[in-house]
Amino acid sequence: MGTFVFDFAQGSKEQKDLLGGKGANLAEMTRLGLPVPPGFTISTDACRAYLEHGSEPVGLEAEVDAHLWALERRMGRRLGDPKDPLLVSVRSGAKFSMPGMMETVLDVGLNDHSVVGLAEQSGDERFATDSYRRLLQMFGSTVLGVPSDRFEERIEALKADRGVASDAELVTADLGVLVGEFKAIIEDHTGDPFPQAPRDQLRLAIHAVFDSWNTPRAALYRRQERIPEDLGTAVNVQAMVFGNRGEASGSGVCFTRDPATGATGVYGDYLANAQGEDVVAGIRNTVPLADLAGIDRASYDELRLIMSVLEHHYRDMCDLEFTIEDGHLWMLQTRVGKRTPQAAVRIAVDMVDEELIDLDEALSRVTGHQLASLMFPRFEPDRSRRPVTTGMNASPGAAVGRVVLDSETAVEWAERGEEVILVRKETAPDDLPGMVAARGILTARGGKTSHAAVVARGMGRTCVCGAEAITIDLDQRRFRIRGGPEVAEGDVVSIDGGTGEVFLGEVPVGHSDVVRYLEGEHVDDPVAAGVGRLLKHADALRRLGVRANADTPEDAARARRFGAGGVGLCRTEHMFLGERRELVEDLVVARDADEQAAALRKLLPLQRQDFSDILAAMDGLPVTIRLIDPPLHEFLPDLTDLAVRVAIEDERRVDDPHGHELLVAVRRLHEQNPMLGLRGVRLGIVVPGLFAMQARAVAEAAADRIDLGDDPRPELMVPLVASERELRMVRDQLEEVVAAVAVERGVELSIPVGTMIELPRAAVTADRIAENADFFSFGTNDLTQTTWGFSRDDVEAEFFPTYRDRGILPISPFESIDVQGVGELVRLATRLGRDTKPNLHLGVCGEHGGDPESIHFFEEIALDYVSCSPFRVPVARWEAARAVLARR
Ligand code: ADP
Ligand code: MG
Ligand code: MG
Repeated sequence: MGTFVFDFAQGSKEQKDLLGGKGANLAEMTRLGLPVPPGFTISTDACRAYLEHGSEPVGLEAEVDAHLWALERRMGRRLGDPKDPLLVSVRSGAKFSMPGMMETVLDVGLNDHSVVGLAEQSGDERFATDSYRRLLQMFGSTVLGVPSDRFEERIEALKADRGVASDAELVTADLGVLVGEFKAIIEDHTGDPFPQAPRDQLRLAIHAVFDSWNTPRAALYRRQERIPEDLGTAVNVQAMVFGNRGEASGSGVCFTRDPATGATGVYGDYLANAQGEDVVAGIRNTVPLADLAGIDRASYDELRLIMSVLEHHYRDMCDLEFTIEDGHLWMLQTRVGKRTPQAAVRIAVDMVDEELIDLDEALSRVTGHQLASLMFPRFEPDRSRRPVTTGMNASPGAAVGRVVLDSETAVEWAERGEEVILVRKETAPDDLPGMVAARGILTARGGKTSHAAVVARGMGRTCVCGAEAITIDLDQRRFRIRGGPEVAEGDVVSIDGGTGEVFLGEVPVGHSDVVRYLEGEHVDDPVAAGVGRLLKHADALRRLGVRANADTPEDAARARRFGAGGVGLCRTEHMFLGERRELVEDLVVARDADEQAAALRKLLPLQRQDFSDILAAMDGLPVTIRLIDPPLHEFLPDLTDLAVRVAIEDERRVDDPHGHELLVAVRRLHEQNPMLGLRGVRLGIVVPGLFAMQARAVAEAAADRIDLGDDPRPELMVPLVASERELRMVRDQLEEVVAAVAVERGVELSIPVGTMIELPRAAVTADRIAENADFFSFGTNDLTQTTWGFSRDDVEAEFFPTYRDRGILPISPFESIDVQGVGELVRLATRLGRDTKPNLHLGVCGEHGGDPESIHFFEEIALDYVSCSPFRVPVARWEAARAVLARR
């Protein structure tokens, strides 16, 4: 056994780390006895050593020589022999498939002499000359760095000169002319003639494949696909077979099932008299694979048989590359094929029925991300449609509606039954009612973690953000698109949150079949039925509970249909918006405790009804209600607007004492850093009676439901606690209120009181905090902001792109939990909390609760549940089960 080089006959499909995916699968096919042209694989170890030192590791050259010699003996030909040359391909292939990202060089071993031998041996001079032309072109551009247009220009010029349309029409003499020209181009560009010595060609090609690991496009692809930077690629050196030796030859690619729908059957393309790269490049039109049956029945039947062998062997859908040389079939590549999310579900479930795999395996093959994308509403596909502009694909889905330029208009128009798209420069918490009312949100500024994006994802609203070409003119009630049309408020637009595209006019759209199925509609769709079946299995497997973040009865009801086991986060702030703003204003301008109490008294019945409705929707299941969290001034008029209004009134001598009082209050409450200011538990402590009113509303709502025969299970959650004293103080207050209501109403009320853990201080003192908490809910959004010290709304727009490009942060910590930092705090708080109270109930709310990667972490540290937006609930159920499987 060598150190760096392995014959195809030595490896297996399990060795992707060492041999790369392509090499491991070539070895596997060789072991299965399939017709694979022989060859050997240079390992990723060799690549890593080469890349680290800038030169070949000691011993590699000798090992390649030994394997080449064995290959030559086996083939009865020598590399580049002038009479009967062996030619090889030199093919890249990393552990994870990176389609088209790295290099492959074909026909290595041809030179001025061996091309003559090839012509004589094959009896086909045109074929030999064409192969040499291909080598010069591929080797020139990929190994020697000659810009590829320099070759293509010459081909185009020659075709024009000869008056022909395709390469295939060039005659042997023409190709000979190209060979001469290509050699001259190479010498001109590099200062040296094309390397004639076959062994030099081979070595240089191997180095070029190693180097192609580090091209900018390969590096970018790895970042996007989250493929580690340090794997390196293997290199496969393989005897060439020729699909370009006439009409009894050809090349093709195929799938063992339909990669788009997952349907059984054979799918592929075939091109006669062509090398493999021509099929993909689309130089000439391919025919459907089925047509091969009419061209070469024997090869077709053999191929069908091999497809079935491979599918049974891999127990999965495979894709294949093959070449037929003179009626002889050769397999050049196979791998487990990439597929759409639809196909992933369909294939997994079908294979369970075919007894190829079990349900565990089926579930582990379909990711939560794939399920999520099956739940997005979609536009009907149409290739001819062109977007007027494109922004970031912030929250997937397809939304159509009339343009509205502010939140109020959105609410107003929606109330009269219009579907609207809210278009803003950027959104603020104040825009929430408009965002709720709108079908979709389009912003000119902000990234994927901007307010608009985060809120939209939370609500399952379609959102395109950061469409920089848009300038909004609020006076004229219209927006302009740079280099495009003007759009007036009321015009219809369609936005695609999956692609970031913005269209004028109405594009047809619908709920996905999977969503309709999960909502309980009758849907005749194998994919939806498959999702249902796998979800049922997931529920039986998973340990983590799944709850929903739901602020309204409608959301709670939907979450329940989607399988939520309760509400993990019911925010109460939206209950203070709209006409209730006046009551908040009364509260903050109140001069004494009596006025304050009066304002709170007016809020009480409204809140009670809010809670009663949500408890009804989640009857029998826990509903965690978070006491009011945002700074009060978010419910008040903007300081500048108000100051201007009051100043104008003063000048016109309009008498407005309320305006003046309000202005004083707004000034008083104005903060430099509101997110670090008077909010959460601090409000509860500083504004007496506020939390007590909310607790009373919850307790009375529960009593109302009990009177109706329901089984309400509210829980009270205190936000932004940093110190155990804060929690103790508030907890006493809340328990008093609940006890009082129980007595007043003559019912038994047991309402657990817990806290958010969303500040680093809370996490590190969780043992003390646990003394006064029945549960913890990790608010990982705020915990991420406060741990990293950056604001969620600004990070994406300002420096995140730079951080990602430089590899400091591979992915936004707001999207997937930062396991090393924020995750460590969660882990610590979990341990400390349970040290104090072994039965402390632990959950997480916030974006991460619905994120597949984060869910795996929460399973690992044994939280009790995750809570996420209703549309994410099926994804969380799914991924919680996959996390169990992954840990087996
Ligand atoms: P990629 O990873 O980009 O698909 P490949 O290494 O598969 O690159 O090679 C590119 C093309 O060359 C493929 O179509 C393949 O079938 C063809 N090819 C590779 N090796 C050989 C060979 N030994 N004989 C004939 N064709 C080959
Ligand atoms: Mg390939
Ligand atoms: Mg928070």
